[in-house]
Amino acid sequence: MSDHVLVINAGSSSLKYSLVDAASGEAAAIGLIERIGESEGHQLHRGPNGETSTALSISSHEDALKAAINAFETQGPSLDDLDIVAVGHRVVHGGSWFADPVLVDDDLIAKVTELVPLAPLHNPANLEGMRVARRLFPDLPQVAVFDTAFHQTLEPEAYTYAVPHEWLKEHGIRRYGFHGTSHAFVSGEAARLLGRDPADVNLIVLHLGNGCSATAVRGGRSVDTSMGMTPLEGLVMGTRSGDLDPAIHGHLSRELGLPLDKIDRLLNYESGLKGLSGENDFRELSKRRAAGDDRAQLAFDVYRHRIKKYVGAYYAVLGTVDAIVFTAGVGQNAAELRAASLEGLERLGIQIDDERNTASSDKARVVSTDDSAVTVLVVPTNEEWQIAREALSVIRP
Ligand code: AMP
Repeated sequence: MSDHVLVINAGSSSLKYSLVDAASGEAAAIGLIERIGESEGHQLHRGPNGETSTALSISSHEDALKAAINAFETQGPSLDDLDIVAVGHRVVHGGSWFADPVLVDDDLIAKVTELVPLAPLHNPANLEGMRVARRLFPDLPQVAVFDTAFHQTLEPEAYTYAVPHEWLKEHGIRRYGFHGTSHAFVSGEAARLLGRDPADVNLIVLHLGNGCSATAVRGGRSVDTSMGMTPLEGLVMGTRSGDLDPAIHGHLSRELGLPLDKIDRLLNYESGLKGLSGENDFRELSKRRAAGDDRAQLAFDVYRHRIKKYVGAYYAVLGTVDAIVFTAGVGQNAAELRAASLEGLERLGIQIDDERNTASSDKARVVSTDDSAVTVLVVPTNEEWQIAREALSVIRP
């Protein structure tokens, strides 16, 4: 029988789950519970018998996981019939401690708790997910898989901010990088698609979803990445500004009399595409652009310009680039954005093929011309499968 891993992604008011065959990546079931702690919550469960959507009030992550277990019992697949070997947890911030997935124990919980100040929006929810799953699945090994782990291979020259030296040790001020699970998965798939050993391939991976990040990958190892100490730095995102002159914080605080916390919030939730155009969803933004909306056009232009800038920067970091890889909601689907981000880079050996780029497909594929020196790929990401594989690698080293 195949090894299944129950993958859990606990957010502040949501819990996503997926029961994944670690060998094939096939999901026997997926589910999402939203608005935990509010009076009107919602559960979606998709299993072998189809999809159900239920309104229910869920007060805690513990109740959410119980609701998930209940959905497995009533709608299938039965958890007892499948060979579940582990629970895999997505954990956003592993700091400098974790370069690999690890078994969840009291020491890990203590370390992830210490990292809460670096990821105040994510780590508390991830911790709660791990605590609850340990209580409800006491006999299964629990494995934490960190978003930051893939980037622990960065050299000091790439992860160090040029600030007073003592800040690094005393306050953990450095670049950690995020979306590592996706960058790791997509890098492996890209090498496979190129028919090459991952150790021989240089890639620029562009994860463009609600959050966006670029990573320079040399021989399967991350050597630079656009997100920094927090997931705010780098590319323009749905609601996050990405790169910004750090003096803007102080300036706005003085001009508007706003506390820094408030400015932090505005940069995380009210900026990016949303800040510029009022619309954070890329599909809606595209509709508005097509209708001649100037702000939507500006948002699109700033977004693609930033991507192009990072492609150039990471080209220089890597020296030679075998492929540029687009992934996640925007990267996989928005052909126009892919073409616009790489426009004018023919002299760098990057040539998109219009027909391939605009052909509709949900498969991993080449979208560059045959004579493009740098291959351009679209590779659907699958973080759940990567978490399942990594969890299995911990319990069966
Ligand atoms: P993700 O975080 O990977 O789920 O990506 C979410 C983003 O992908 C949102 O901005 C969506 O509007 C965008 N997206 C999803 N599907 C499409 C599509 N078919 N065309 C353009 N953007 C899309």
